[in-house]
Amino acid sequence: MHEYGDLIRIQDRQQAAEDPHPDSGPIFEAVQRLSSDFGPNKPRATFFPGSVLSHSRLVRQFFEITKSGNPDAILLTDLDRFESFDNHRAEYSLVPVINISGSPTHLADADLVPDDPQSWRDAAAIIRRFRTRREMLPATFRTAATPAIRMLAYLFVSGKDLTPVRVPQSRYFFAYQGFQNTRATITLAEALADAGMLRRSFVDRHSACPNCQSHRLVVREECPACRSANLSQAAFLHHFSCAHIGPESDFRQGSALICPKCLKQLRHYGKDYDRPGDALVCRKCAGTTTEPAVGFQCQDCDAHIDGDLIKTVDIHAYSLTDHFLSRLSGKSSAGVRPASGSINRLPPKLREQIGRFVGKTGSSRRGFVAKLDYASRHDIARTKGDDAFQALRQMFKDRLQGLLADTAHVHSSTDGDYVYFHSLTPEEFKDSSEQILAECDSVLSVPLRPKFEITWVGSGEETGG
Ligand SMILES: [Zn+2]
Ligand SMILES: [Zn+2]
Ligand SMILES: [Zn+2]
Repeated sequence: MHEYGDLIRIQDRQQAAEDPHPDSGPIFEAVQRLSSDFGPNKPRATFFPGSVLSHSRLVRQFFEITKSGNPDAILLTDLDRFESFDNHRAEYSLVPVINISGSPTHLADADLVPDDPQSWRDAAAIIRRFRTRREMLPATFRTAATPAIRMLAYLFVSGKDLTPVRVPQSRYFFAYQGFQNTRATITLAEALADAGMLRRSFVDRHSACPNCQSHRLVVREECPACRSANLSQAAFLHHFSCAHIGPESDFRQGSALICPKCLKQLRHYGKDYDRPGDALVCRKCAGTTTEPAVGFQCQDCDAHIDGDLIKTVDIHAYSLTDHFLSRLSGKSSAGVRPASGSINRLPPKLREQIGRFVGKTGSSRRGFVAKLDYASRHDIARTKGDDAFQALRQMFKDRLQGLLADTAHVHSSTDGDYVYFHSLTPEEFKDSSEQILAECDSVLSVPLRPKFEITWVGSGEETGG
């Protein structure tokens, strides 16, 4: 650690001596102009995963480097040490990641190359866009409680679609801009598309290994008999008198053509024999074919897959739907209907729980109860039995409690399932309620199609049982 620190200091001194960006010149002036456009609100930035090298003076001139609190940008300094990017997405999902590591990456929202004035302009525009659009987000989206809300909020503030980009190093050959875990990103985006929040658009169709899901496959023509790819093209001869067809090399003996089947010599083209065309000869099993098979060889698990058994996977881009955008701006009706009923209509055990919580905190002004209704309940009970419904309901409730964590308590009684949100108001919750339900529903083998109905809103009324 001590030696490492010394190294950094030496490097700092060297860089200070050899700084390629003196305090003048066209780039310096361009950056200064961009910087002055921000006025007194200079973009605040945090280095990630930390500042090891001393970065050029241009970076320090443009950004106000901050170690804590609301940055406007994350400056990505080292891709190799960037292992848990998605974890930090959670923390900084509404802030653009500006890559200054020198190697381009799909993880970042922009690659900043200090010598390139256009990349400075792009970075400044992205920071400004994120800033403006962050302000337009309702509070529930700014706190980004779940991965689903985080993804929707990120797509909104970035102003871009969830877009696949080519990444040859990935086993899928692509990744989504801004996201590290491709599989998790697809799962989430698909659930949000099913819930009507995202719209899919087709980008490409890949072949996938049915064994390990990799898209890194080599496709080749193969011998239908032995599956070797070692095929060579050969001219074929057809001997009329015995009807034998074979590669010319089998007939060739010096300058003469001798039929390998009947051993007669072929003398006159058109009278003794003709050339029906080319075919493929397998160098492994010596079989011949005019219709080679198609086969895939997985480069990750080494599985061989016959062409007709290969899986195909459609790659999509995803954009926010008008439905979602109108909900964001509050133009459409809310997903939950606020209705303040009497607390006496709640199950007794739940009333006791609310009473205990209110007693502990001394306030019941915040907090509300929503009742869960499962639209598919009767269909599932009829077609699969009540046990199946109860199992799905339990899975759903566990997942819901997991997602809501300590912001709410999922309560079951003979009367049904309730959720007691102890520290939110219905207004704060309404924008995210549908996404949360959709996310929980998306993991079930049969969707329950849940709905919330608000049955009680805390307002200081008597809560005793
Ligand atoms: Zn012959
Ligand atoms: Zn063969
Ligand atoms: Zn494989």
